[in-house]
Amino acid sequence: MIEQLRKDFPLLQTHIDEQPLCYFDSAATTQKPQCVIDAVNKFYRQDNANVHRGAHTLSAAATTQYESVRNKLAQFLNVSQREIVWTKGATESLNLIAYGLSEKLNQNDVILISPLEHHANIVPWQQVAHRTGAKLELLPVSKQGILDLEASKTLISAKKPKILSICHASNALGNIHDIAALIQVAKQFDTITVIDGAQSLLHLRPDLSAMGCDFFVFSAHKALGPTGLGGLFGRYELLNSMPVYQTGGEMIERVSFSGTTFREAPGKFEPGTPNISGVIGFGAALDYLDAIDANTLAHHEASLYHYLVNALKKIDGISIWGDTERNIGVVSFTYKNEHHFDIATFLNTYGVAVRSGHHCTQPLMDHLSLQGTVRISLAFYNSYQDVDILIDALKNTIDMLEE
Ligand code: PMP
Repeated sequence: MIEQLRKDFPLLQTHIDEQPLCYFDSAATTQKPQCVIDAVNKFYRQDNANVHRGAHTLSAAATTQYESVRNKLAQFLNVSQREIVWTKGATESLNLIAYGLSEKLNQNDVILISPLEHHANIVPWQQVAHRTGAKLELLPVSKQGILDLEASKTLISAKKPKILSICHASNALGNIHDIAALIQVAKQFDTITVIDGAQSLLHLRPDLSAMGCDFFVFSAHKALGPTGLGGLFGRYELLNSMPVYQTGGEMIERVSFSGTTFREAPGKFEPGTPNISGVIGFGAALDYLDAIDANTLAHHEASLYHYLVNALKKIDGISIWGDTERNIGVVSFTYKNEHHFDIATFLNTYGVAVRSGHHCTQPLMDHLSLQGTVRISLAFYNSYQDVDILIDALKNTIDMLEE
């Protein structure tokens, strides 16, 4: 089945310097299936028009298509469509939420995040803390980079934070967090919970109603969709009560020089012409995922991940960081004192695409006392053969570095 699915991804059929591409950078962005490429193409060739405006046929059809994807995503996440806001991506979503919640904060408040966060889930809160006087504090994480769940629950109870913002899965290490357990504790103190789902949307397909979070953010490009699009879920009363983030056309009810009134959420958070083709392309990605059994993909990803981890553990000198028990399929490793960039560059000469560096998690790298790691990130379209090629290439790389 996986061999069949791989054929849906044109870029996986290509070569890098005459070597077949082995793509292991899906945590940065996933490859796109043909149906997503076709949907974007079809929109511009046959359906192109602006949304929410015209009485004409094309505009009405574009609006219907665009809004139907909001509905599709709402069903995918098991929430209501009026709770979905489209943005440029997870980064913009987190900025919107941090800005929106900032008026609820003062110097007596605590914002709790984890040391594992992507910069996009650190810097907006840092800015808000700076402006409001609220304190930004950290959940406990081990030397290996694993969140201590029990100590985290205790800390939430002790600190009673106004906001808890944490990733569902770490982009740097792949660790999956027991979000439901953290939310359960946070709810006792009316803490607003924000979940960074950039890495979990594709791999974990979360049911947000079951999870019980107040906000959830994502990027479409990390779940087979186009770049430049993402969004957020917000529990409706909370979402609708937040102040507008950016202003302009579309998000208004009435503008006059004596003042402006705004639409209800989600409209009030979507100023200007949206990324219509991106939304439509993402709709095709969601249809594609809906048509495949999620358990089959999860099972393949998990066994591929363990196959990879076992092979890496057999190589002397490799250190794997993070949680290898609960993981979305990301392996972050270092090899002795060799520079991560050198390893990734050598691997590239074998057609193996991995990421190296701090992965936009500099505080985590500081916590682990590392400059950076080599990150191998899997998706369901990776094969055992890909992993075998990677391991051979890595052994050759190590031989070269040791010479
Ligand atoms: N959070 C996490 C966990 C991520 O992995 C990323 C992207 N690497 C982001 C936030 C930011 O997403 P984007 O760059 O698509 O806005």
